Amino acid sequence: MSEGGNVTGGGHLEVNGTMMWYYHICPREVWLIGRQITPYKEDDNMEMGRYISEKSYKRERKEVEIGPVKIDVLSARNGRVVVGEIKKSSKYMESAKMQLLLYLDILQKAGIEAEGELRVPLERKRERVVLDEENKKKLEHAKRDILRILYLGKPPEPKKVNWCTKCAYREFCWS
Ligand code: SF4
Repeated sequence: MSEGGNVTGGGHLEVNGTMMWYYHICPREVWLIGRQITPYKEDDNMEMGRYISEKSYKRERKEVEIGPVKIDVLSARNGRVVVGEIKKSSKYMESAKMQLLLYLDILQKAGIEAEGELRVPLERKRERVVLDEENKKKLEHAKRDILRILYLGKPPEPKKVNWCTKCAYREFCWS
């Protein structure tokens, strides 16, 4: 997934799905992504995730670009668009859910009512995600906090989290 929106690029700054995903894992990573600081090498997990995402549900999905994000539209259900987010494992479901909520919000602002579906093909799991009032509040709070992080003059200090062992920035933080 390639998404626009960064601090160094100038212009209007928008929170994208990648930032939303990492926000629930590591604020330092959000800052680094926002500054377009590129990891030293492609992370194996990123590669694997991309592979699963590209190979799964090939027949029913269609990639649509709206604003700062690219969205996988899976199908229409009862007259509503269903947006999918396909993940390698259910380990970071909260991040994936918030990412989907961001996409649903962008679609709603464009006049498209949609619901989300989180899919973990390797675990044969699916979870429905809807942009209700409670989720809207959670999303707005997360968006505001991501912008606060992005505008910090320097990155938040590194803190060891489970993700560090497979993070593409690990050498940047822990060498
Ligand atoms: S290595 Fe750890 S602290 Fe550094 S950006 Fe990655 S997750 Fe965050």
